[in-house]
Amino acid sequence: MKQKIKLLTLVVCAALCLASGGCAKNEKPESVSFQAMDTFMQLQVYGSADTAEKIKNQITRLDRLLSPTDESSDIFKLNRDKKSTVDELCAEAVRKSLEECKATGGALDVTVYPVVREWGFIGGDYKIPEKSEIDSLLKKVDCNNVQVSGNEITLKNGAELDPGAVAKGFAADKAVETLKSSGSPPAILNLGGTVAAFGKKPGGSLWRVGVADPENSADHIGYISCSDKIVATSGSYERYFKGGDGKIYSHIIDPKSGYPVDNGIESVTIVSESGTKSDCLSTALFVMGQNKALDYWRQNRDFDFVILTKNTALVSEGISQSFTLSSDKYAVREIKP
Ligand code: AMP
Ligand code: MG
Repeated sequence: MKQKIKLLTLVVCAALCLASGGCAKNEKPESVSFQAMDTFMQLQVYGSADTAEKIKNQITRLDRLLSPTDESSDIFKLNRDKKSTVDELCAEAVRKSLEECKATGGALDVTVYPVVREWGFIGGDYKIPEKSEIDSLLKKVDCNNVQVSGNEITLKNGAELDPGAVAKGFAADKAVETLKSSGSPPAILNLGGTVAAFGKKPGGSLWRVGVADPENSADHIGYISCSDKIVATSGSYERYFKGGDGKIYSHIIDPKSGYPVDNGIESVTIVSESGTKSDCLSTALFVMGQNKALDYWRQNRDFDFVILTKNTALVSEGISQSFTLSSDKYAVREIKP
């Protein structure tokens, strides 16, 4: 079976080029780059010494708590023991992601881990599982199997947690809290494609956050001008493999069927004030597909989106003026309430 994996590093580069370009010439940010949460991150903080370093340490700590594969993490121990008292940040991340699981009717489901692992998206040992195996694993998948009481989490019916669809957004929220408690220096934080655009660029203009080109994630098809927003993207191009049957299987799984989503959406970018919401909804709206995603937005207007399908960029009304298309592969269609 041919395998192919694309990591987010290239997307990050594309977003950062835009994010940092155009800042006042004499302003040099404190800039920190590192690997965490399975991706490359770059933090740029203006006019405040050591804040980027502080945020890096915070993200590294969160990664150690939330990783489902690190044997010393709270999530690993919880998945193994099924009942565990976890760090309060871990409990908060799980509680908030469960809220989004329920709000999205299970399109986002942080208990889909056993199925994600069976397809090989955790270890990289890709395979197309037998349908009977998927059906049997799906019995464990249900966010109602997770109970959080204070910092104690219980997993019922063999459930296992994977905060992978949520962790970077949650980390972005915590980073913004740190910026606020450090005198609110302007900052552009790129956590592997989840970008926190905090304050305004030195000089007063808005940040520009790139929307990656699904065909070449080092490039972008346009950008969103924004301030005080967290922008998260989920794309089928981020991690996938080609099966022996020649089909492409991507890492975003429909928790109802247990199969990788294949609904014509190339990527979903969500813009909101909450990183947790942006990250959860980028995954969830991808799973929902175009029609249900638009319905969801019409019923919950606390975020904006850019949804890329083959030739069209669907852009919600709230950011249609701040989205600039720079590719002739797509035509913009503004979506109104
Ligand atoms: P993201 O890039 O934020 O969309 O997160 C995708 C990652 O979340 C995948 O690599 C899986 O580890 C996990 N995942 C896949 N499908 C789902 C889903 N429907 N709900 C929650 N997590 C998922
Ligand atoms: Mg996500």
